[in-house]
Amino acid sequence: MSEMRRVTAIRNGTVVDHIPSGYAMQVISILRINTDRATPVSLVMNVPSDKLGRKDVLKIEDRELDQEDLDRLALIAPAASIAIIRNHAVAEKMNVELADDLLNIAKCSFSNCITKNLREPLPQRMKVVSREPLEVRCYYCGRGQEIDELIENII
Ligand SMILES: [Zn+2]
Repeated sequence: MSEMRRVTAIRNGTVVDHIPSGYAMQVISILRINTDRATPVSLVMNVPSDKLGRKDVLKIEDRELDQEDLDRLALIAPAASIAIIRNHAVAEKMNVELADDLLNIAKCSFSNCITKNLREPLPQRMKVVSREPLEVRCYYCGRGQEIDELIENII
């Protein structure tokens, strides 16, 4: 059985492959997929992968991820490969790439950060200090952001 066939084929939407094993739910949050609404999402967890050992795969119907989505996704699934499906066929393939600067992706978790000053709004900006392991810091206050905090503070 081919890897992609483990999940029911979709007509239109996006397949996110090579998500680190166990992180599919975080990907759903980071992409702000509203699970209360009628978007069908198929989730496969812990399937064997040559690249990652084990991986998660996500299929999102009727939604095509855009560049902004990919920038977010890079935070938790830097090796993810994306396939946009149109009419049951792969229309586009994309890879994610974690930028050095994350502009307006997540809010700083530090309550006294200058970005919390509503009178002088600043763009939210994070610096990726290290990729492996992931280390992200606020550009302004320097506070390190935990991955869970980043997911919670996604804009
Ligand atoms: Zn900050």
